[in-house]
Amino acid sequence: MTKYRVKVDLMLCQGHGVCTEECPEVFKVIDMGTGYPKVSLTTENPAEELRSKVQDAVDYCPNRTLSIVEID
Ligand code: SF4
Repeated sequence: MTKYRVKVDLMLCQGHGVCTEECPEVFKVIDMGTGYPKVSLTTENPAEELRSKVQDAVDYCPNRTLSIVEID
């Protein structure tokens, strides 16, 4: 069965929080003391049942910070 993991490019993240609105089970936005708040993952390997919500977060992130990587 194919699984997936979530990849984050923190350099691109500006803490808009769209990802949290789409899938709060996986995405949190936290203040790291670096100027912008940044996304933090509750898990890199979300459940298959969350895939459509994770995909929405990927698609709607305004900075193209997130991606899904398929794992065999
Ligand atoms: S991952 Fe995208 S939507 Fe989420 S906080 Fe970062 S820039 Fe905003």
